[in-house]
Amino acid sequence: MNGPLVPRSDFPLLAAHPELSYLDSAATSQKPASVMDAIREYYTNANANPHRGAYRLSGAATDAYAASRAAVANFLGVADSDTMLFTRGTTESLNLLATAWGRANVKAGDRVVVTRLEHHANFVPWQQLALEAGAEFRIAELTADGAVDMAGLARLVTPNTKVVAFAHVSNALGTVNDVPAMVRIAHGVGALAVCDGAQAVPHLSVSVDALGVDAYAFSGHKMLGPMGIGGVVVRRAILEQMPPYQMGGDMISRVGDERTTWNVIPHKFEAGTPNVEGAVGLGAAVRYLAGVGMAAVHEHETGLGALAAERLAALEGVRVLPSGGVRSNGVVSFVVDGVHPHDLSQILDAEGICVRAGHHCAQPLMRSLDLAATTRASFYLYNDAQDVERLVTAVGGARKRMGY
Ligand code: PLP
Repeated sequence: MNGPLVPRSDFPLLAAHPELSYLDSAATSQKPASVMDAIREYYTNANANPHRGAYRLSGAATDAYAASRAAVANFLGVADSDTMLFTRGTTESLNLLATAWGRANVKAGDRVVVTRLEHHANFVPWQQLALEAGAEFRIAELTADGAVDMAGLARLVTPNTKVVAFAHVSNALGTVNDVPAMVRIAHGVGALAVCDGAQAVPHLSVSVDALGVDAYAFSGHKMLGPMGIGGVVVRRAILEQMPPYQMGGDMISRVGDERTTWNVIPHKFEAGTPNVEGAVGLGAAVRYLAGVGMAAVHEHETGLGALAAERLAALEGVRVLPSGGVRSNGVVSFVVDGVHPHDLSQILDAEGICVRAGHHCAQPLMRSLDLAATTRASFYLYNDAQDVERLVTAVGGARKRMGY
């Protein structure tokens, strides 16, 4: 665990900037050369508009896109790969569900339930859907150790609840939720179980089929892939009955003057020219992660997270926020007495340490913790114990600089 799990030289940015300790992978990860190479190879040998041309090059683009869908679905433990829709990422995936499924299924008097841990991407779309529909919007609160209060959640999920939306892993605290238990609560009343997997897929071995969720969203850029690509896995039966999200090219079967019929899944939900470059890059990213092994990734970053949490908590004036009782991933959120997180992150930046400071797109959570912001360090497979040491030394030094 002392060294990185993979060579930093696999990652061109880290190789070009040996002075950096990049501790913001929960926001976005660095990219291995193999992802960049796959994109270059695609543009060199297979670029054309897919699904549209009768010529061979267009066929190559179509094949590259389809192969990436199969690779990503396989990585996610999804047997029916056509139920994995490509989107721009978690945000678009959750908006797709709240808009297409939500408007068709949530009515006045229904209830929509989320948790206090949610990123705004899994909070605001459901809140706005409830407001539009005249439905009740309820938030399951947390226990003192930063876990979702499961008894409280069960009480909120009443027979009129149509959807329960929850994170697999919290981006702000690092809490790992008991997804199967949450699914059981949702399904107990026939509600849709929607899981935000943005912080889980890059870090855990995830089998979406085994989790039993109805929908599962994720982002490519947090898992070594490019920005602007991600996806959502949705049960086929739900996709069949759900209206399209966006209308345009490729998602239609027949466009009449009066009526239009829809293409088959997944095309029904992928209007317009798709992000083939992104899909190809994401395909290369999951090949890289699968080669390393997700169990090893998880063990490595959990070790670094636990070490960082222990060492930071031992510093005077530093409080590490709880992450659901056990520290089971590489996200460590903390506050330092007398040093605003933004100042701290600038001080750390001057020493080459990249961390996140702010509300982490989780204002409802921050309000409940009575904090405006925290500093968050997040570890990944290219980090090592030296990164932890640099962080701890710099945080200790920052307090001294502020006169403590
Ligand atoms: N959900 C969680 C838990 C996240 O951490 C993030 C990004 O930080 C998102 C959703 C939104 O992801 P994206 O910006 O890639 O759409």
